[in-house]
Amino acid sequence: MVPAFFHFSSQFDGAESRSSKIACQERRHPCRLLSKPVALTTLKKAGPNPALRRAHHVWLLVPFRVSVYSCYTPGMNDPNRSARTRRSFLKAASVAALCPFAAHAAPQTATPWFLTQGVILGVRDMETYDWPALAKAAGLTTLATHITPSEIAAFVKTEAGQRFLDGCKTHGIAVEHELHALGDLLPRDFFDKDPSMFRMNEQGERVREYNLCVHSKAALDVVAENAVSYAKALPSTSGRYFFWIDDAMPMCRCPECRAYSDCDQALIFENRVLGAIRQIHASATLAHLAYVNTLDPPTQVKPDPGIFLEFAPIERRYDVPFRQRDATGTPATITHGRLLDALDANLEYFGKDNAQALEYWLDVSRFSSWKRDRITDIPWNDAVFRDDLDLYASRGIRHVTTFGVWIDADYIQRWGAAPIEAYGRGLSRWSLREGAPVPIE
Ligand SMILES: [Zn+2]
Repeated sequence: MVPAFFHFSSQFDGAESRSSKIACQERRHPCRLLSKPVALTTLKKAGPNPALRRAHHVWLLVPFRVSVYSCYTPGMNDPNRSARTRRSFLKAASVAALCPFAAHAAPQTATPWFLTQGVILGVRDMETYDWPALAKAAGLTTLATHITPSEIAAFVKTEAGQRFLDGCKTHGIAVEHELHALGDLLPRDFFDKDPSMFRMNEQGERVREYNLCVHSKAALDVVAENAVSYAKALPSTSGRYFFWIDDAMPMCRCPECRAYSDCDQALIFENRVLGAIRQIHASATLAHLAYVNTLDPPTQVKPDPGIFLEFAPIERRYDVPFRQRDATGTPATITHGRLLDALDANLEYFGKDNAQALEYWLDVSRFSSWKRDRITDIPWNDAVFRDDLDLYASRGIRHVTTFGVWIDADYIQRWGAAPIEAYGRGLSRWSLREGAPVPIE
């Protein structure tokens, strides 16, 4: 077998790396100077190691096949670009370490197709396990908190919360917050002051529980004010915000709202929230969550610029690919075909730019029917997962995340973290070539 090599270029003179197959051919001579293969784990140490930095280049010999990686390394006086460089290096290194003889990572010239490669976590997951380090090792870009704004705002003030945020910063992981928010954005005690701010049920009664009346100016004013407060307390480092309505709960049936679907009402709320957040973060974007009672697109309300589609097919199954249209989910009256039609209709309505798939491939809580005493291992199916990514990529979706709720210290001690590594590998294998996504195998 012909020996081959990995190449990590790390020029720190401000010039763009010349790493490529050509560069490797030009520099074949120094490769031959290495008399024996070097352990791939050395790659992990190359980034922060001053001696290796001064050496400018790290050449490693491994058997079997050629793969070329490199890190674009701009001037060190630009913290953002340096952070990108560090992330790129560590991501490539971690992929190589995870899969040394069949590398899936893209070469330098390929832009990652999936711009968001994320996992959504609950507080206990973040408290009990070093998720930022795990995300880095798996090559992920993003970790998001969950479930409500008040819960996460309290968490980030704790020592564990600060440790989580510091870890994400250290490892170059973006932090987002995917939150069922309306219970916090419109505090329920306002009902005693003005019931018209709250939703009307099918019996014509204003009720305190869940959501709001989107035709109440007073309600939307309170929502906007609190959205700004929570956006300050829980900034999204990517600029992508997620303030959802209450979890699959009904919207208002008052005489004014009745003419609007739950999706249209949700979009009225979202447009107002985005406008409020943009007062403090001009480039902020906000998700419209298509999910359960908001599965179909709106018909009357148009999204303001900056609203993007987030599609969460919670009813689907995971033992067969999502593209299998006749597969029945939960409830059994919903098929994959029904969900896919809704996805396509939403993409048509909101556009594919910034669209995000919110998946459940790693959601222990869902696989355990949200019952701790029935906690189960993730039934990971790599073929299904990869086929699902093919499906999303073919529709132009470039942001993918999954719930990873209940993957905490107990879970990892019992079953290990392998699905997270497989998840990162699957996402990393995609790159953008000439305007279209291409899997690298
Ligand atoms: Zn109403």
